[in-house]
Amino acid sequence: MLKQQHDLSQANTMALACMADTVVTLTDEAQLDDFMAYYRDNDEQAPLFVLSGGSNVLLPATLQATVLQPHMRGIHLLEHTDDYVDIEVMAGENWHELVLYTISQGWYGLENLALIPGLTGAAPVQNIGAYGVQLDDCLQYVRAYHLPSNTWHQLTASDCQFGYRDSMFKRAPNTWLISRVGLRLHKDATRILASYGDVQSVAQRYAEQDGRQQPMPADVMQAIIDIRQQKLPDPKQLPNCGSFFQNPIINQSQFTALQVSFPNIVGYPMPDSMVKVAAGWLIEQAGLKGGGIAPIMTHTQQALVLTNHAPFMATQEDVAAAQDYIANCVYEKFAITIMREPVWVQADATIGLGNHAI
Ligand SMILES: Cc1cc2nc3c(=O)[nH]c(=O)nc-3n(C[C@H](O)[C@H](O)[C@H](O)COP(=O)(O)OP(=O)(O)OC[C@H]3O[C@@H](n4cnc5c(N)ncnc54)[C@H](O)[C@@H]3O)c2cc1C
Repeated sequence: MLKQQHDLSQANTMALACMADTVVTLTDEAQLDDFMAYYRDNDEQAPLFVLSGGSNVLLPATLQATVLQPHMRGIHLLEHTDDYVDIEVMAGENWHELVLYTISQGWYGLENLALIPGLTGAAPVQNIGAYGVQLDDCLQYVRAYHLPSNTWHQLTASDCQFGYRDSMFKRAPNTWLISRVGLRLHKDATRILASYGDVQSVAQRYAEQDGRQQPMPADVMQAIIDIRQQKLPDPKQLPNCGSFFQNPIINQSQFTALQVSFPNIVGYPMPDSMVKVAAGWLIEQAGLKGGGIAPIMTHTQQALVLTNHAPFMATQEDVAAAQDYIANCVYEKFAITIMREPVWVQADATIGLGNHAI
């Protein structure tokens, strides 16, 4: 379905005002072939941009592009053994609903990734991860359309070049449209990963309530849902796009020097004598928990999350003003530059850099 001058303010979880020139909603792969043939034959010049659940993007007030929305649905069982199942999930499936469905079937591996917003086709883009698990722990392949050459490809996990919140899709924006994701999930209900924070104790409580001694994947999933609901604002109630700032990585000597003035500074050792510093802590210590530039304010319980208090009216410029203000305050106090995490989409659909607001 093709719409002209389409309002996308309800199609991004930050609820930023956005009017797109053209939006094409795809409910099967053949529609993409047809649309791209039309696009090519008419020598269309409008840039292409792929938008799924809109939970990791900051959209411009005017998007002079053709927005492709992959909404193909379906979960297909490919192989079923005593130990594992292979499933193929279409890009338009809601990620959290997929997690709930797989656990209800006794197919495990996605439980730690519960409640991450967005659609399945976007999950490989930043190799979504939470509570010690990343998508590439179970991803087998991706079927994707290469937009510049109009060709379909089946890409292995190694072709996707996954890294921490990274993939080749992220490094080459507006180049691929992912239409299917192949996953291998296991069937061993005793295999869980619950070592992060309070997950083990909350999962244990769920197990005991059910008369079991050991937590199962469903208990871990429920624990993670509870913890996330307490920590993160629900975008439907308070628009946001999750963690707004990346945790900066600084060298050990800078960290040691900062420890003199700030003995409680939170850092995690990284390879090559580097230290990853908790951006949320830096923002909080700069006195900005709940602060910002209205209507874009940090969340009162989680300073890393920027929230929009003027849904469907605030624009990318408002986000830029708040981002610059927060980043400057943090820099003045700690001499550390904090960078943006979500994808900054410019009016011509190119992607902005993380440290410059506009
Ligand atoms: C409250 C909250 C909590 C979050 N928690 C986490 C978390 O714990 N871990 C985590 O990793 N992320 C987290 N996120 C970020 C976000 O949910 C994920 O990045 C998610 O995968 C984005 O999916 P989406 O469908 O909303 O993608 P969109 O925001 O629509 O798109 C994101 C990017 O992917 C590209 N893209 C989208 N779909 C496709 C496709 N089919 N093919 C090719 N490119 C595509 C877009 O062009 C864009 O560059 C959180 C976000 C919020 C709002």
